[in-house]
Amino acid sequence: MKNEILKEIKSLLPPELSEIKSLVNELLETKPKIRKTNLEYLEREKEITCPIDKSHRIKKNGHKNETQRYWCHDCKKSFSITENSIAKSSFLTYQQFKKFLQCMYDFKSLVETSLEVGISETSCFELQIRIFSIINQAFENKKLKGETQVDEKYIRTSFKGMCKEKMPRTSRHDGHTELTSGISKDQVCVIFAIDSYDTIIIKVAGNGAATTEMISFALKDKIEKGSTIITDSKSSYRQFAKDNSLNLIQIPAGQHKFKNYTINDVNELMQEAEIYLDKKKGISSRHLQHHMNFIKYRKILKYTIKYLEINEEMYKNCILATTSLKSNDVYSTEMPFDIEEYKKWYSNRNS
Ligand SMILES: [Zn+2]
Repeated sequence: MKNEILKEIKSLLPPELSEIKSLVNELLETKPKIRKTNLEYLEREKEITCPIDKSHRIKKNGHKNETQRYWCHDCKKSFSITENSIAKSSFLTYQQFKKFLQCMYDFKSLVETSLEVGISETSCFELQIRIFSIINQAFENKKLKGETQVDEKYIRTSFKGMCKEKMPRTSRHDGHTELTSGISKDQVCVIFAIDSYDTIIIKVAGNGAATTEMISFALKDKIEKGSTIITDSKSSYRQFAKDNSLNLIQIPAGQHKFKNYTINDVNELMQEAEIYLDKKKGISSRHLQHHMNFIKYRKILKYTIKYLEINEEMYKNCILATTSLKSNDVYSTEMPFDIEEYKKWYSNRNS
């Protein structure tokens, strides 16, 4: 249809073109500022199938609240075009939505995002988690291969958002003294891996120093047999490499390279995560994996899409996808480690 319109426009005379021009200007001014534009986008671009049985045997079935409804011939039920879509519960206009995504891309905090988009911090938080759940589904599970750099990063546990009675330890704001430095159960271990084809894994693996079990949890069956992993000198990697038929190159402690091998690429990725966490200020450990998935998604966008097209691509990815995650589910994500074990460790740590 677009091509036909363009062809028609080309045949217009100058006064008519001028008329079209002012109409286009007016629409460009108004359309991004309404919510309906998101719905129009869906109607135009989304492949509509029944949300229950994925059937294509559907027909249009009127409108409700400006939203197109459909009828499925197979399960004899009607559904809306926004079923399980982020556009359903979101009251954002097209412009706000795109601003929101740009804020995410720019590592803005919830406070900053809330101010820029003009919605509450709670709404920002919930929308962000729903977007994370969409991003999460989007990843194809490609195996890493060739030379794969692996390293781990430790991030302070955070029980942010948990009610006081359930908190396994006193809040740091309550004048609680900082725990001793070094790796303890009070740190969450995140394993990063990147291969020579820029395929990435970022996995929250538990708390405390990386054990072979934690490395296996993050990477088992995710790297092709016979590949080479390049790591620091930690002994846990030796057993992991052996168990998974991988060649192992370890960079000796205090050195940056061994022969021609380095772990610079994975370190660069970890630095990006660090900047992100720093800007986000206090992400609850329960949502850490979501945020790490976002770092991965952003990195893939950066590798594959031109900068000026990234915002539109994010919009497309989010608006056209579906997620069964409801706003209430947002608060029930599990901690990535055993809370009971943590409590025991916490109360015993000075005795
Ligand atoms: Zn159906």
